[in-house]
Amino acid sequence: MDLYEYQAREIFTGHGIAVPDAAVVDHPREARRAAELLGGLVVVKAQVKTGGRGKAGGVKLAADPAAAELTARQILGMDIKGHPVRRVMLAQPVDIQDEFYVSYVLDRAAGTFLAIASAEGGMDIEEVAATRPEAVARIPVDPAEGVSEAKAAEIAAAAGLPPETADTLARLWQVLVREDALLVEVNPLVRTTAHQILALDGKVTVDDNAHFRQARWGESSEVRDVDGDPLEAAAAAKGLTYVKLDGEVGVIGNGAGLVMSTLDVVAGRGARPANFLDIGGGASAQVMADGLEVILSDPDVKAVLVNVFGGITACDAVAEGIVRALDAVHLTRPLVVRLDGNNAARGRAILDARAHPLVEQATTMDGAAARAAELTTR
Ligand code: GDP
Ligand code: MN
Repeated sequence: MDLYEYQAREIFTGHGIAVPDAAVVDHPREARRAAELLGGLVVVKAQVKTGGRGKAGGVKLAADPAAAELTARQILGMDIKGHPVRRVMLAQPVDIQDEFYVSYVLDRAAGTFLAIASAEGGMDIEEVAATRPEAVARIPVDPAEGVSEAKAAEIAAAAGLPPETADTLARLWQVLVREDALLVEVNPLVRTTAHQILALDGKVTVDDNAHFRQARWGESSEVRDVDGDPLEAAAAAKGLTYVKLDGEVGVIGNGAGLVMSTLDVVAGRGARPANFLDIGGGASAQVMADGLEVILSDPDVKAVLVNVFGGITACDAVAEGIVRALDAVHLTRPLVVRLDGNNAARGRAILDARAHPLVEQATTMDGAAARAAELTTR
């Protein structure tokens, strides 16, 4: 889960990383008050879980409290890349001398962490990375060793950052470890004209699997506040593990491994999966019905593939779930179902008896994927 900038800022403060003074508000009138307290001149920043706010007009300077109110009103009404702005942060402006980019990310392919840093931070870092990759240093970080003072100095030197950024680099690694984060990014990390090092913007992605030991993330409705895909939010509300993808074939299966294989098989048949949805082992008819409902509310879906290998979840329960979903939602797109394993024959018979014109059955996973792919391309 991504955190908002203002949440990242609070975490940074807790780890001794310098940030500008700031306040978060959700109403223009409060913005005026906050600006008064911050000394008048403020930067008004949209709080949305997407980057490029500056270029989208979501980061603006306001000269006095009245201007802050006006600017806040304007930014609070914005939609940035599909994210409505519900809160703004007002920050004390900083006189920037240099803007740097720094981040720690999990490099899944290499099986380690990576420090990425550049002396050319700011709003155009993507362009720098694309056109002059040599200006961006990428240094592996062994999670067992972490980022010591010496390692931080090495990262700074490799990226051409001034040595006084090393302390912040070491503290940002502590943020990643202590907060169970998968990503910690600061862009820009600035050197002010007074030669202070400040984190001016922050992005932290925490690992949802660590909620059980991150009590303050687990319970806080503030943090859980979903600003993301509405389908993912709907699925989360039903307790389903759902991830929206870019394609047209809706996919439901039982067990993460089977669902991931199903995505591969769909792709192998030249189609693109619209989502990942695991209804889990021992799933009930209700869970199946909930899952179908979420997938069918995705307008990108042109066909749905249900791939179930009955183990603890018996196929007849899955078939009952499909029938229940067919009664509850108006099916407008074809559904290809492959049932195998525990009680497969009974499950197939239930679907045969329902005889819905848009429901087809397939006997193999590959055959089912091929049929679903075919249905999306005609
Ligand atoms: P992003 O566009 O979503 O990454 O938002 P940022 O918080 O990074 O802000 C975008 C840009 O606005 C930064 O790269 C800075 O150049 C500029 N900016 C933000 N805050 C300040 C500030 O206090 N002073 C100055 N001079 N520029 C700022
Ligand atoms: Mn930024």
